[in-house]
Amino acid sequence: MTLPASAPALLTVDLDAIVANWRLVAANAANAEAAGVVKADAYGLGMVPVARALAAAGCRSFFVATADEGIELRAALPQARIYVLGGPPPGAEDELAAHGLIPVLNSLEQIAAWRGKALPAALHLDTGMSRLGLSGADVHRLAAEPARLDGIPLALVMSHMACADEDGHPMNRRQLDAFRALSSLLPAGVPRSLAASSTVFLGADWHFDLVRPGAALYGINPTPAKPNPMAQVLRLQGKILQVRDVDSPMTVGYGATHRVTRKGKVAVVAMGYADGLHRSLGNRGFGVIGGKRVPVVGRISMDLTTFDVTGLPETVVHPGALIDLVGPMHPVDELAEEAGTIGYEILTSLGRRFHRQYLGET
Ligand SMILES: *Cc1c(COP(=O)(O)O)cnc(C)c1O
Repeated sequence: MTLPASAPALLTVDLDAIVANWRLVAANAANAEAAGVVKADAYGLGMVPVARALAAAGCRSFFVATADEGIELRAALPQARIYVLGGPPPGAEDELAAHGLIPVLNSLEQIAAWRGKALPAALHLDTGMSRLGLSGADVHRLAAEPARLDGIPLALVMSHMACADEDGHPMNRRQLDAFRALSSLLPAGVPRSLAASSTVFLGADWHFDLVRPGAALYGINPTPAKPNPMAQVLRLQGKILQVRDVDSPMTVGYGATHRVTRKGKVAVVAMGYADGLHRSLGNRGFGVIGGKRVPVVGRISMDLTTFDVTGLPETVVHPGALIDLVGPMHPVDELAEEAGTIGYEILTSLGRRFHRQYLGET
C-alpha cells in the first residue's frame, strides 16, 4: 500500500482482475469476439489504463458513449476499433472521421449525414429499449430503399437488451426474435451484436458475432440471481482522521439522526458524498476494518463519514488506519444495495480526490 500521507483515501484498481474478467466473458461467448465497453471513464475506473490493459490482452474493439471519449481513447490506442454508441452529434461527423472512430448510427438522419464518408459505421436497431436506435419502420425503409446505405461499409449491426439481468424474462426472447427478424432485412454478412454483460450469460443464442461487456469487466454481478462469477477489481479505502469516545445521550452528525445509546467509539473517515459515497448510505452502509463489518452511523457529510467502531482495539482503529468501503469482504454490489442503487452507479460516481493505484499495469 502506497498511500501518501496527504491523501484522504485510496482507490486500488486491479487491471489483472479486469483482464481475467474479460477472458471469462470471452470464454463464455467463445464463438464471438469479445469487445470492451469503456464509456464513462471505464465506469469510473480510468478509461486509458483499463483500455490499455484490455488491448494488451488481445481486445481489439472498444465502445465509448460519446465522441469526446472516443477522441481521448484514440490518442491512447492508435490501432483499436472504437465504436461511439451515441453516434455522431450533428456537425461532429468530420471529427469522428478524422479520429478513425466508428459511429453507431441510430437514426435515418445520422445515416444520411454519414453517407459519402466511405468510412465504416455500425447500425443500432431498437428492439425494445425505445432509447437509441432505428425503429422497425426505419429498418423496413432501409430494406426498401437500400441506396440509403450506399457508401457506408457496415462494420456491425447491433441492438441492446432491456431485461437481460433477469434470466427468463419474456422480453429477452422477444428482443432476440426481433433482432433476428430486423437484422435479416439488412445487407447479409455484416457482424451482429446483441449482448452486453448480463446478456452474455443468457446463453449462446444471444452471442452472435461480438459481445459488448462493460459492468462484468469491473466486477459487477451480471447474473444477480446467482453468485457473482466475476472477480472483484476494486478496493476503496478511506482514512480515519479521528476516533472519538461517545456515550448516551449524544447524537452523531447532521440532523442528529443517530442517537448514541451506550458508551462507544466513532471513527471519522475522510470520505463523503463528494467522493461518491451516496447520501442514502447514512445509517445504512457498512465498512470493514480489522476483518469486522462496522456500520455507518449518522448522515454522510460532504467530506466525512462516521462509523461505529465500538469494541475494536486502538491497534486497529486509529488515525491514519484505513476502512474498506469496497473490498474483499464488501463487494461493490453490496455497497450499492445498501445505498439503494446498482453497482454501475456506485462506480461511475466515484470521486476525484482519491489517490489512485493500478495493480498489474503493463
Ligand atoms: C453500456 C452499454 C453496454 C455495456 O453494458 P454492461 O451492462 O455494462 O455490460 C453495451 N451496449 C450498450 C449499447 C451500452 O449502452
